[in-house]
Amino acid sequence: MTHTPILPSTFQALRVSKDDQGLSQVRLMTLTQAELPPGEVTVQVTHSSLNYKDGMAVAGRPGILRRLPMTPGIDLAGTVLHDETATYQAGETVIVTGWGLGERHDGGYATLARVPASWLVRAPAGTAAHWAMSVGTAGFTAMLAVMALEDHGLRPEESGEVLVTGAAGGVGSAAVALLARAGFNVTASTGRPQEADYLTRLGARQIIDRAELPSRRRPLESERWAGVVDTVGGATLAGAYASTRTHGSLAVCGLAGGAELETTVYPLILRGVNLLGIDSVTCPPGRREAAWRRLARDLPIETLVPMTQTRLLSEVPDLAQEILEGRVRGRTVIDVT
Ligand code: NDP
Repeated sequence: MTHTPILPSTFQALRVSKDDQGLSQVRLMTLTQAELPPGEVTVQVTHSSLNYKDGMAVAGRPGILRRLPMTPGIDLAGTVLHDETATYQAGETVIVTGWGLGERHDGGYATLARVPASWLVRAPAGTAAHWAMSVGTAGFTAMLAVMALEDHGLRPEESGEVLVTGAAGGVGSAAVALLARAGFNVTASTGRPQEADYLTRLGARQIIDRAELPSRRRPLESERWAGVVDTVGGATLAGAYASTRTHGSLAVCGLAGGAELETTVYPLILRGVNLLGIDSVTCPPGRREAAWRRLARDLPIETLVPMTQTRLLSEVPDLAQEILEGRVRGRTVIDVT
């Protein structure tokens, strides 16, 4: 017998559209169920989060939202209402990050979402939607970065310094906590010296001012970093790359300081340095599940509390400006209920 689900006929969504002058505008709106995008699974969204990319999307920066109107929010967690594929049961807590959510496909800043079943990850046993979005895309990306460094031979017992750039941001804070938890000697680079205590509480052993980070003046600088998680890009990444130790690795996640990379091949061919790209959006399902399982073990809610604030959907437009200006510390959960 076919079970016909009862789904809410309307839902709330933060929509980005273009006004008559072609300028981007953002508004909380009521949409009908018929306006949901295609997909097999309908999810009652309870939590989303704020990531740098969401800041760019909500602020109308070009290149993130591939069509308008669009609901931004690159991640979400909530409860399955209906799954046409019967892979998920109604009531299960699920997580979506990446795959174009909040870029090409209506995202997490809405009370209802519809997505392909292949995009979902079950919340690990014992975790809740609020925990999942405290981690969010940023924490998931930090986990992928740490796993990539480990896959390339980084081990805590070698006790070299591991650098995290943009350390007080979302990816950076989670990377500091995850690396410290795994026993690494973490150096946190920040442009906000007032966050030194916060970063020390997360597990950083050394704090370095962003301005004092060794920059790249020569193709090869003195060897310092056994590993690097970089969220900043640009000159920061170029400097870290030139200062990475022989056979060390850099997990390159972001561009908060710039997208360009002016450098040489010397660290690659004279030191065997590994420049590793991290893309959370297209990360394959098996690796996603492994990353979420490890996050459940290594980033429990008590570790996340000091780095997480919870805000409302109506506050997202203001928060978007704050994250673009580098004023948001750690993670921001968006309560969508
Ligand atoms: P946040 O804004 O939370 O963190 C970015 C941090 O970078 C800031 O907190 C600040 O850290 C530092 N920063 C900001 N501006 C500058 C600047 N001009 N120069 C140097 N440092 C700067 O963002 P997220 O943590 O959400 O994202 C970080 C980056 O990672 C972004 O570029 C984002 O697009 C990218 N990203 C990539 C993903 C992937 O799959 N590859 C997934 C998720 C994010 P501090 O104050 O400590 O110096």
